[in-house]
Amino acid sequence: MDQFQFHNPTKLIFGKGQLEQLRQEVPRFGSKVLLVYGGGSIKKSGLYDRVVSILKELGVKITELAGVEPNPRLSTVHRGVELCQSEGIDLVLAVGGGSVLDCAKAIAVGAKYDGDMWDFAERKAAPVDALPLGTVLTMAATGSEMNGNSVITNEETQEKLGWGSKLAYPVFSILEPANTATLPKEQTVYGMVDIMSHVFEHYFHHTPNTPVQDGFCETVLRTVIETAPLLINDLENETYRETILYCGTMALNGVLNMGLSGDWATHNIEHAVSAVYDIPHGGGLAILFPNWMRHVMHHDIARFKRLAIQVFEVDPAGKSDEEIAEAGIEALRAFWDSIGAPSRLADYQIDDSKLELMADKAVRFGAFGNFALLEKQDVLDIYRSSL
Ligand code: NAP
Ligand code: FE
Repeated sequence: MDQFQFHNPTKLIFGKGQLEQLRQEVPRFGSKVLLVYGGGSIKKSGLYDRVVSILKELGVKITELAGVEPNPRLSTVHRGVELCQSEGIDLVLAVGGGSVLDCAKAIAVGAKYDGDMWDFAERKAAPVDALPLGTVLTMAATGSEMNGNSVITNEETQEKLGWGSKLAYPVFSILEPANTATLPKEQTVYGMVDIMSHVFEHYFHHTPNTPVQDGFCETVLRTVIETAPLLINDLENETYRETILYCGTMALNGVLNMGLSGDWATHNIEHAVSAVYDIPHGGGLAILFPNWMRHVMHHDIARFKRLAIQVFEVDPAGKSDEEIAEAGIEALRAFWDSIGAPSRLADYQIDDSKLELMADKAVRFGAFGNFALLEKQDVLDIYRSSL
């Protein structure tokens, strides 16, 4: 293991009926709340009414920022920052999926910064202060509810950049499985692909002596693989929703990857695709991850062999290490196909006309990836094999 410090300041409030905890949490931060939400799913599900009625009972002054887009836009962040400053907001409260949470994080740091929040995404500056952010999560996917990361799209420059700060961790996050039960099948699948992808980003590392971390990763992967087919055929089942919700938080809250540096190249490659084509993040990952795996397999065939045997139950008898590793990647592809995830860029009508543009965006900060360092040509090869 590498040396590490672990500090996750988010208070995680998980389980049935826990929305009520807003009554304890909100008053700790003040009485003026910016309520941030997406395109209306929380109004349809009734969650909006439940949140607003609790806030009203608390005597909170609510300012609303509605309409946060999937792949949240910088212009929406700017609107939120202006509201925080003009209304003297005490607490940003995000109610929605990862996009709403990521946007709210950017607003929380942007509200305490004189310049443009985009400076943080471009690594020109780092946040020094932030408004407190609370969240009520409605979708298992990003882990944004318990980490300090956020991904914002600058629609003017067609760039989608991740940034992170320890100031961007939510002060509390409320996760009720029932709040995710209205998520349609397609988005549920994207979320599960994203969760598995976060685990893969940790799992592909070269740090020695990480038996517990590797085992934790395999457990989360096996759990998603077992639960996914049940959930997509029974979308309102709160037991399956609870399992996946917990997997999503654990996949990216820092617990699985203590003492090791994961890869993160595939997320970067995907962000370049969704920056240009505005496709769902999980859909892009489902297309790209198996092709990244094939491209970098030779960097540590033993790790791919282990994934194949431990997670995908590949029978190693009579097979070379390479064949076992390849069978594991095939099994991942087949699993994602079986739950209805996309497998080719063509599934989103993406052809080869903008591969160069996307590859240039992916290498904007130079070569990347810790398990295997990718140059522009590697990115192009992975895109081509994904067409
Ligand atoms: P999302 O973009 O937040 O939501 C996708 C769609 O699902 C939206 O149309 C939303 O509708 C709908 N939805 C959400 N909850 C619902 C519910 N309970 N019932 C019905 N519909 C619901 O999806 P996401 O995958 O969570 O977030 C994706 C973004 O996160 C991408 O930009 C990705 O790059 C980023 N990301 C962040 C991290 C991180 O660590 N911060 C990690 C990976 C990816 P409404 O808008 O109407 O609510
Ligand atoms: Fe992700």
